[in-house]
Amino acid sequence: MTASSADCLFCRILRGEIPATVLGRSDRTLVIADITPQAPLHALVIPRRHAEDIGAFMAGKDAEAEFADLVAQALALAKEKQIDRTGYRLVVNTGSDGGQTVGHLHIHLLAGRPMGWPPG
Ligand code: AMP
Ligand code: ZN
Repeated sequence: MTASSADCLFCRILRGEIPATVLGRSDRTLVIADITPQAPLHALVIPRRHAEDIGAFMAGKDAEAEFADLVAQALALAKEKQIDRTGYRLVVNTGSDGGQTVGHLHIHLLAGRPMGWPPG
């Protein structure tokens, strides 16, 4: 686990090497719009610390507080976008069966349409 990874897509976005639509930021996080939105609001809450997935992330020092910060950022955006009353979905895809395509932990925030269960 490293602070930043040279060829990681989200680390490159965090360093400003690749453009993104920024929806929020904090000392520990960056919140961007997903480039292929699956819902009217589809944001990604990305920790500034590189970790391959949720397992690697939670093995880090002070990870519980960091994860709580990620969730707080998602909830703040939900409130700002006024979808906290209609509802939303927070998703952490992990590994190949979990549908993870970018190897840097992130939380999806999806909202603005009804979503079925189980997801496809
Ligand atoms: P996951 O499949 O859970 O790893 O989620 C990765 C997400 O990153 C997908 O929803 C992609 O659409 C999104 N994504 C990929 N490239 C970019 C990018 N350059 N800017 C914003 N989102 C991206
Ligand atoms: Zn990274």
